[in-house]
Amino acid sequence: MAVKEFYNLGQFLKDYPGMSIRPYRGDGFVIRGTFNFCGTPPNGIQICDSYELEIMVPTLFPKAIPTVKELSRKIPRDGKHHVYNDETLCLGSPLHLMKKIAERPTLTDFVETCLVPYLYAVTNKLQNGGDFVFSELAHGVDGIINDYMDMFGLKSKASVLKAIELLGFKRRVANKLSCPCNCGKRLGSCVFHKKLNGFRNIASRSWFRMHSNIISVMK
Ligand SMILES: [Zn+2]
Repeated sequence: MAVKEFYNLGQFLKDYPGMSIRPYRGDGFVIRGTFNFCGTPPNGIQICDSYELEIMVPTLFPKAIPTVKELSRKIPRDGKHHVYNDETLCLGSPLHLMKKIAERPTLTDFVETCLVPYLYAVTNKLQNGGDFVFSELAHGVDGIINDYMDMFGLKSKASVLKAIELLGFKRRVANKLSCPCNCGKRLGSCVFHKKLNGFRNIASRSWFRMHSNIISVMK
């Protein structure tokens, strides 16, 4: 019961009655079943559809990102539908997902803001062809870096990697190091430090340290 309250899981299971909690030995818990949704983007047509999904919710949620797998292979694994090699769905860049989760930290909000727009785009492409209508979606490491250049207002991959690294340090430590914006100053002496510190509300230092390690070796 405590777990349900903590994640607003009771509300989620009411909102998506085809989904239920399944036994899971790892860290966190798993929700699996038929996910029915209807989505209507601004200026778009309504689409309703259903997918067989498995959502892995980490113990640290909302300080860590759930992962989602599609179980019946309705989504083509052709490299054009944003499915990672480990079968999890590519719902957007990790920092973008963390930002959305920080703004609305419940499971229902996570699926509505991160998952439903993705599934809408897949169904729309399957039914109507054409492009993937999910403009925020970044794919692969280049897409993630491009998304981060936008989010941070930085111009190179090296700057983005430096910014993420600095967010893994305490504020006063980071302020003494060189600024990622290429101004040649220390971070603390550049206006960029205000922008960078805004990201400290989105994720913890340990998340940024972990993400820095992952992203610097991603190909
Ligand atoms: Zn600077």
